[in-house]
Amino acid sequence: VENCVFCQIISGEIPTEFIYQDEKVAVFKDVHPSAPVHVLVIPKEHIESLNDTNDKLLLGEILTRLVLTAKELGLKDSGYKVAINVGKGGGQLVPHLHFHLLGGWKDSEGGVN
Ligand code: 5GP
Ligand code: ZN
Repeated sequence: VENCVFCQIISGEIPTEFIYQDEKVAVFKDVHPSAPVHVLVIPKEHIESLNDTNDKLLLGEILTRLVLTAKELGLKDSGYKVAINVGKGGGQLVPHLHFHLLGGWKDSEGGVN
């Protein structure tokens, strides 16, 4: 979709180093990390938010890819958070569905919201 930052990342219009990608899913670092590790896992298809899909297979693939990425980034034992902002009131700034993977804090810093 035109003017969608994440569609532009997927098309290569905005050069981005992917941590992982396949036909359906892409993983890359957040430009403005709000945790020591802050990665976004997104569907390549433009889906505006969690409100706009019933695709259980795709949602499952995004979530399992996020977990695999967390493990690959060494977060399995230290722990991590998964955040999905939905709509403006939910803090969603980019209207292309994305799952935030946040972690890498020391001790229990991540427990503070
Ligand atoms: P939201 O608030 O919509 O849940 O999160 C959007 C996230 O996308 C923010 O954390 C923001 O830093 C990130 N972001 C926005 N534009 C870009 C970009 O061009 N590249 C990358 N890698 N991340 C972006
Ligand atoms: Zn998009």
